[in-house]
Amino acid sequence: MHASPLRVIVIGGVAGGMSAATRLRRLNETALITVLERGPYVSFANCGLPYHLSGTVGRDDLLLHTPDSLQARFNLDVRVHHEALQIDRAARTVTGRQTLTGEPFTLPYDRLILSPGAHAVRPPIPGIERAFPLRTVPDLDRLKAAVDTAGPHVVVIGAGFIGVEAAVRAAGRHVTLLEAGPQVLPPLDPELAALVHQELDRQGIHVATGAAVTRVTDTHVHLHSGACLPADVVVLAAGVRPSDQLARDAGLDVATGGGILVNDHLQTSDPLIYAVGDAILTRDALDQPAFVPLAWGANRQGRVAADHLMGRPASYGPHPATAIARIFTLTAGSTGLNERQVRAAGLTPTVIHTHPASHAGYYPGAQGLHLKLVFDAATGRIYGAQAVGGDGTDKRLDVLATALHAGVRADDLADLPLAYAPPYGSAKDPVNMLGYVAQNVMDGLTRPLQWHEALSSGRQLIDVRSADEYRRGHLPGAVNIPLDTLREQAPHLAPRVLVYCQVGQRGHTAALLLNQLGVEACTLSGGYLTWQAGQASLTPAAHP
Ligand SMILES: Cc1cc2nc3c(=O)[nH]c(=O)nc-3n(C[C@H](O)[C@H](O)[C@H](O)COP(=O)(O)OP(=O)(O)OC[C@H]3O[C@@H](n4cnc5c(N)ncnc54)[C@H](O)[C@@H]3O)c2cc1C
Repeated sequence: MHASPLRVIVIGGVAGGMSAATRLRRLNETALITVLERGPYVSFANCGLPYHLSGTVGRDDLLLHTPDSLQARFNLDVRVHHEALQIDRAARTVTGRQTLTGEPFTLPYDRLILSPGAHAVRPPIPGIERAFPLRTVPDLDRLKAAVDTAGPHVVVIGAGFIGVEAAVRAAGRHVTLLEAGPQVLPPLDPELAALVHQELDRQGIHVATGAAVTRVTDTHVHLHSGACLPADVVVLAAGVRPSDQLARDAGLDVATGGGILVNDHLQTSDPLIYAVGDAILTRDALDQPAFVPLAWGANRQGRVAADHLMGRPASYGPHPATAIARIFTLTAGSTGLNERQVRAAGLTPTVIHTHPASHAGYYPGAQGLHLKLVFDAATGRIYGAQAVGGDGTDKRLDVLATALHAGVRADDLADLPLAYAPPYGSAKDPVNMLGYVAQNVMDGLTRPLQWHEALSSGRQLIDVRSADEYRRGHLPGAVNIPLDTLREQAPHLAPRVLVYCQVGQRGHTAALLLNQLGVEACTLSGGYLTWQAGQASLTPAAHP
């Protein structure tokens, strides 16, 4: 018990910092809690910033609290325009300056919580200073003023979640989205990202992948390919890095590649100093170090740090990263690791794709979903899942995130007793269906090949859809034997075949039938639809 009130300084007054400060106050009425925020606003909704670009959300609605309202409700001493510049761990002080006046300050602390967030990566490209980042309300004000007053050509550099969101919310202008990598939304695997890419195309956003920017001038953006795009406004969304300099300068342990290192209680290498949010490294579902600049973690960690600081048994273990975005009519998101990441970790995952309807097909308004589950077929352990589609995509993603975090096995997804009525789902919900497919794979009933394995499989390719569907497009070299005629054709087939349909359902029935008739049959995971999306992902999108 402290004789005098506990002095806590929180550096960074938005997601993680404010979550920590308010929780701390709820647990300790006497602590002297000071929040230092470099910018003019605290507790603003950074996730809502892109929605003001499109006018969906009013600017004032993004400002959730003011220093006065936080003083009144939580008795917090919130100091905006106060930048922390140095931590003296021996003296237990934070030194900084008032950013408007330049006036220096030094404050003593008993405990310190760092939540300085992340900053936009500014690649070393000549002229890049002209590009607008989107991290704070002042960033938004500058970008919105430019978008509203400059000419119609907007170029967004970087097609991660924030770049895609910025491009979508700036729609209506002539928007070009540039990505140096091979696909949009890197947390998704390419065949799912291709669906998002197609939606961006449909909505008039020009997307160029493999597009490295070499120069930004007052009027144009130049690409490595030699192309030159008119650019009245340039948005910088080339990724973010943990803001760890303050911690580094204070001699706290920081990962070589960036990110403050913390223990399970979110204490840094100095146990009096906690760190939360985008500035830290956490651990992913495989217990590997992970940089997860997302709001859920920042909020959760703020609370955990405050709890632990107050002597409560709180810890923050490995978590799957779960992210989601709305891209016009589509929702796209992922939880846990994608296939690429699992393979990079040296594991051999099994992958299944499904394309169910959002709810019972006979009830009006059903929309298509595209789901991918990445798991271990021997143990059933789920590594991650991805979802792209219409209504209900978010619900399925959240159920899968819950299952992943709770350690539910892939085949046990079939056992989840999910809510059902025709407007909401199916008696076999899309998540249950993933479980049924996983069961079939784990039991050895079905062996799915992936879209990128089909043509090199050495198997006879059999398209079991209708003749009409086949005519509209099929795998090269595939023969068309509609499912209902397959029995009589079985004796004439090669001994090893790959059967497929549009989404996988008829292909599954066909494979089980053929296997019983003595033909060794594999299915194509996700059917023709996934194969097509996979093919689309192989074609780099040229600049417009
Ligand atoms: C445009 C945008 C959209 C997003 N959308 C989503 C979304 O839809 N879903 C999602 O999960 N996540 C989203 N995020 C990410 C999410 O906002 C962050 O993960 C979260 O805010 C991180 O919280 P934090 O406390 O670590 O950092 P922040 O909330 O960024 O707060 C850090 C604060 O610290 C201040 N600071 C830094 N250094 C100092 C210093 N030395 N002294 C004083 N103050 C300092 C900064 O000014 C900043 O205000 C989005 C982020 C952005 C920018």
